[in-house]
Amino acid sequence: MEKLRRYLAQKLRLVDLPTNDQNNESQQLVLSKLSLDGIVEYIKENTNCKIITMAGAGISTSAGIPDFRSPSSGLYHKLDKYNLPHPQAIFDFNFFMKNPEPFFTLAKELLPEGFKPTISHYFIRLLSEKGLLLRHYTQNIDTLERVAGLSSDKLVEAHGTFHTGHCLKCRAPYTLLWMKEKIIEGIIPKCEECNEGVVKPDIIFFGEMLPERFRILADRDFIHADLLIIMGSSLVVQPFASLIDRVRNTCPRLLINNEKVGTQDRLSRFLGLRQGLVFDVKSAHGGRDVAWLGDCDTGCQLLADKLGWGDELRALIQREHERLKVEDKSDN
Ligand SMILES: [Zn+2]
Repeated sequence: MEKLRRYLAQKLRLVDLPTNDQNNESQQLVLSKLSLDGIVEYIKENTNCKIITMAGAGISTSAGIPDFRSPSSGLYHKLDKYNLPHPQAIFDFNFFMKNPEPFFTLAKELLPEGFKPTISHYFIRLLSEKGLLLRHYTQNIDTLERVAGLSSDKLVEAHGTFHTGHCLKCRAPYTLLWMKEKIIEGIIPKCEECNEGVVKPDIIFFGEMLPERFRILADRDFIHADLLIIMGSSLVVQPFASLIDRVRNTCPRLLINNEKVGTQDRLSRFLGLRQGLVFDVKSAHGGRDVAWLGDCDTGCQLLADKLGWGDELRALIQREHERLKVEDKSDN
């Protein structure tokens, strides 16, 4: 059976075949309870706990950020006049090279302006302030982690960001502020260095490589994590989704999401691969994955409350939202 399992895994080129050592390792009991309380106990017991957080659109929905990748979001109606081959073409790099206008029309609606970070964003910042955050990996391009005050060295924007842009011809860098002025005026931003190239925000389009920072840090970080917290992601977009399998076998994984996602499929289970989250483990030994179902903000506040940081988190949010309000006023 073991032979067949290994043969199939090699044939199918499935990654991360666990060694015998890792199999033994996974027999240890990591969490006292497979629940949020079990995770809280684990964090309290591990004073130098190194936590990686991973987040998707779900941490930004309560900020009012539209889910622009979904054609049903309504934003795409504004693009009817461009006769796009399909809605997603707007984020297709080759299409953009030929015709950047539809993207910038949509970008006007999407500019990260006036949105306030959510409880979830500030919870991540609190983890960082407490020295527990190894790194935060986000799929979001809305820059709200930066607005929430998370330092850029703790942040990996896996799908790029609106925060900066580059000329597609000479690679000259531009700021969000510079791009914003042009986009709001309805002008396609053109490079002032070479006077030729279009300046594209550094968000990752279909057909583009992910940022090098993502590859380098993912290789380095995940093996060192003591706890992985996944929030508000449907865990379907690769390679982001498969990051969950790059932590050690003994690293507990907490999913805070409206529904259970990223679960192990039957083939991976048969092959004994550590692919996907495994909830509701009945065996007395195993089990390290916990799902807390609900919206991210409620989950993060509850986790903070249970850790005894609830008031601190509330105070941080109040202070920061006040500060942003003052900044907004002085901007206008
Ligand atoms: Zn240029």
